[in-house]
Amino acid sequence: MNRYRAWILALALVPAAILAVGEYWSTRETDALIAETWNRQVDGILYSLNQQAYDWAANRAGDLESRLRRGEPAAGLPARGSIRAVLDARALRGLGLTEAEAEALGRDLGQGYRRFISRPGGMADLLALGFAVDTGEPTPRVVGFLIDKNRFIAEEMEAALRLVGSQGLGVGIFAVVDGAPVFRSRPFEVATTDIRRPFWLMPDYELAIDTEGDRLQAWARARLWRSLGLIALVGLVLGGGLWLVFKTVRRESELARLKSDFVANVSHELKTPLALIRLYAETLELGRVPTEAKRLEYYKTIGQETERLTHMIRNILDFSRMEAGKTTYRFAPTDLTALLARLADMYAPVFERAGARLTTELPDTEVVVEADADALTEALLNLLDNALKYGKPGNRARLSLLKDPIRIQVRDEGAGIAPEAIPHLFDPFFRAESSLVQETKGAGLGLALVKHIADAHGWPIGVSSSPGAGSTFELVVQSGVTNR
Ligand code: ADP
Repeated sequence: MNRYRAWILALALVPAAILAVGEYWSTRETDALIAETWNRQVDGILYSLNQQAYDWAANRAGDLESRLRRGEPAAGLPARGSIRAVLDARALRGLGLTEAEAEALGRDLGQGYRRFISRPGGMADLLALGFAVDTGEPTPRVVGFLIDKNRFIAEEMEAALRLVGSQGLGVGIFAVVDGAPVFRSRPFEVATTDIRRPFWLMPDYELAIDTEGDRLQAWARARLWRSLGLIALVGLVLGGGLWLVFKTVRRESELARLKSDFVANVSHELKTPLALIRLYAETLELGRVPTEAKRLEYYKTIGQETERLTHMIRNILDFSRMEAGKTTYRFAPTDLTALLARLADMYAPVFERAGARLTTELPDTEVVVEADADALTEALLNLLDNALKYGKPGNRARLSLLKDPIRIQVRDEGAGIAPEAIPHLFDPFFRAESSLVQETKGAGLGLALVKHIADAHGWPIGVSSSPGAGSTFELVVQSGVTNR
């Protein structure tokens, strides 16, 4: 059984695992591809923003260069837009531009590239931008702009930033030191995005992009959730199927075991009394019984064993009829008080012969209900039979008819029933696994019949039992009650 279980588990789980891993990898690959495409795209956007700022500065520097070539004095040149002032080399040095940096600017210009070096402009919001110009002199001159940063961003960058922002992305310029926003196309914090690049022209600022709400990202996320959901669903379906298979296989094999036990039990039970009857009958026939008392005892035993066989065969026949759905019940007004009294009269001697006692607790009035008297008698006989079989020697059993609500109880002082056996008691062929039960004769059909009869009447049946202290079976009579 355990081997089968492992196989079934492997059969169902291996494909599920392969599917899950495959789906996971394909999702990861797609995600990587999306991320790569995305990064390239975003890089492009940020690069072009940086480029735009650089171009602006380069244009202005070019303008200044032409003016200087024409001999206009640097300091006297008019400030325009976000350029507050034009600075000469000395002013730049005053703002912290080193000699080495100034030389480097000249060298780069000689190689055809105009570099800008920025320094804080002395006041907040001001930035000094140093660069070299070729004025026709033997060495390039270093000059600079004093730029109003806020105005520069508003006049030169904002339009481009807004354009990017209109395409579903958030874009912004933030201070590097504390992440304070300088410009944002929509509210977002620089800390919540990883797409950040230095702002070339103004190193104390950075550019950032927020992808929240982007369609591609949203699609990728939705896809991931869909895949995960699908995997979970497949897992659930497989797990559910597995569970069902388990249950069915377990039930089937349990049933097969119960049936084979049943056949063994029944054969044993038919053989023993038959052997006994034959032995006693032969002994009597041969006249080998010495005393009259002994002879009477033999007759009694033959009678008892025949009774037991009849009961057993009736149970089997009833059960097979019940299984085939051919049982018919005939309901009629039945006085339970009288029925139980008759039953106790009939069965008390059986208890006495076995050294036990059967007492009753019956009302003094009639309790008339709609019932099939024969079937009910059969059910109660089975309960009494169990009370006797599973009772201790000297056991006192009690058959009661109680009111409010009306119910029939069969109580014994036997070994009781283990709690784990209780849910299966009424299953066909079920016999609890205890030494007492093993020693006791039975086919495990009695309670299944009782349950069938109770169901046919629409009466709930319950059992309460504490191991060692006995059991109580209770039929709750619910319908058709007429009290007289
Ligand atoms: P059988 O008595 O032929 O085994 P039943 O269907 O009547 O079959 O009972 C099923 C099982 O329930 C018994 O094998 C026994 O383990 C348990 N059982 C039933 N009645 C009692 C009882 N009064 N006390 C203890 N165990 C009981």
